[in-house]
Amino acid sequence: MKRESSHTLGRYLCYAIVISLNICTTQTLRSQPNISNDEERQSKAVDSVKRIRMAEMTWPDIKSAIEQGYMTVVVAAGSTEQHGPHLPTMTDTRIGDELAHRVALKLGHTLQAITISVGCSRHHLAFPGTISLRDATLRMITLDYIDSLARGGFNRIIFLPLHGGNFPVIQQTLKEAQTAHQGIEIIGVTDVTKLFDCLNAASAEFGIKANESGAHAGESETSIMMALEKNLVIKDRFAPGFVGLTGEKEFKIIGEQGTQALTKNGVLGDPRKASADKGEIYLDRLTEFLIQEIKKQSH
Ligand SMILES: [Zn+2]
Repeated sequence: MKRESSHTLGRYLCYAIVISLNICTTQTLRSQPNISNDEERQSKAVDSVKRIRMAEMTWPDIKSAIEQGYMTVVVAAGSTEQHGPHLPTMTDTRIGDELAHRVALKLGHTLQAITISVGCSRHHLAFPGTISLRDATLRMITLDYIDSLARGGFNRIIFLPLHGGNFPVIQQTLKEAQTAHQGIEIIGVTDVTKLFDCLNAASAEFGIKANESGAHAGESETSIMMALEKNLVIKDRFAPGFVGLTGEKEFKIIGEQGTQALTKNGVLGDPRKASADKGEIYLDRLTEFLIQEIKKQSH
């Protein structure tokens, strides 16, 4: 999930903390919109496009969708890495894929490319099951996605690097790709600080402590996974990990020695207050934030 630099690591951790904070409240919100109904409504109202996940579509249907104006494509970039004793290693990828799907539906006339399911996770390699890409590998994958999608006919490509370690690599790579593809619009929500601010605002509202919400596999991520994959969340293993403040010193330790140097169970935070209801709220807030950021960057 992340890069070597403690700065980057810090931003990632902050991001996770923010997410957690966001989620945490008990305020009741309306239930999550039904994705399949939204999708159905969109397809009926607009055209013959029945699905937006290209991995579930055939090439003639994708071609037809593009011809009907589906010229924007969204790609999430997750990770495959340890998420404590209670969450599956696909956690970042599952959350990223879900957010990309919700974003695509809300944007309209947008297809979703298959999510990049492995990211830069070097600091978690001491925990079995973690698979990490080198930065150079993720850069090449990102460039190849863009080349392929541009060749396929899309004129707007949106990257959502929803795993901390992917942010700096993708941010840099998108600049490079934009220079090579002047004719298409390449957008990435790659400013972790803005995500942090957004999540911080929500967390303050919810009254959840940042150290519980956590930077990794804490209350926030656990809540989201309870909303999305309840059968893969092992509740009787909920236990706090590192719950101190994560400042420069801690980020440096993780960056240089690995996550295990700070937390034996791999958790940064405390999942014990997690709930599916909070997870739905987190997903809503994150979706809205991503949509706003995309709109700001759009021509
Ligand atoms: Zn995660």
